[in-house]
Amino acid sequence: MRLAALAVQLVLAGCAPLAPYPEGAIRKVASPNFDARRPNFVVLHHTGSDFVDRALATLTSSERKVSAHYLIGRNGEIIQLVDDRDRAWHAGFSWWGGNTDVNSASIGIELDNNGDEPFADAQIDALLGLLADLKQRYNIPRANFVSHADVAPGRKVDPSAWFPWKRLAENGFGLWCDAPWPPAPESFDMALALTALGYSPLTPDASRLSFLLHYAAGNESLSVDAQRALAFCLLNARYENESGAGVDAQGPADAMPY
Ligand SMILES: [Zn+2]
Repeated sequence: MRLAALAVQLVLAGCAPLAPYPEGAIRKVASPNFDARRPNFVVLHHTGSDFVDRALATLTSSERKVSAHYLIGRNGEIIQLVDDRDRAWHAGFSWWGGNTDVNSASIGIELDNNGDEPFADAQIDALLGLLADLKQRYNIPRANFVSHADVAPGRKVDPSAWFPWKRLAENGFGLWCDAPWPPAPESFDMALALTALGYSPLTPDASRLSFLLHYAAGNESLSVDAQRALAFCLLNARYENESGAGVDAQGPADAMPY
């Protein structure tokens, strides 16, 4: 009886709301050693529109509640809508590598494209220049250049299968593996591999479709063995890249004593 009563008390205690900090309970001592937070991911989109002015109107409408840091027209014109250090509203409900607030950590780039057409050369040339600048300025790792479909599987499918991911990877943005891919070992776990690449484990089927859209031009009939081989190759490419890349300074305090 006494044990049961104790258990009930513990459960009730567990439900009690925590008391908030009383006013002034947190002592504040300002450190001069900080700077603005910086983006560590780039998320690419297509607008789904036929005219850049229409996309621009949507992305700047206070009713629509959507934006991006940059919009690139078919002619290569780059329009900046939100400062890099501010949080644009482009990714929505998302997951990448366990991060569930991709908007807070990323730069969003919209490419004006209706989703059913090749991306214009001038537009991709402009994008590559912008990505080079962002990568260098914020020290963004190669693997962190991803798509809206990657971070919002089952909800978004942009940019479309027309998007030239291989060309981006050749320029240092995102991962790529050319077919044919060497077979993955038998013990290779595809679900774990997709999670390790960054995809949400909460929506495994949709995550696999986003993976195919990005790395296999949306070829959903790719055999299971080929999908496993592709994921195995990409994971190896990622780790080779990360272990080979010099880890740049994260701030002036690289000589952290802790
Ligand atoms: Zn999008």
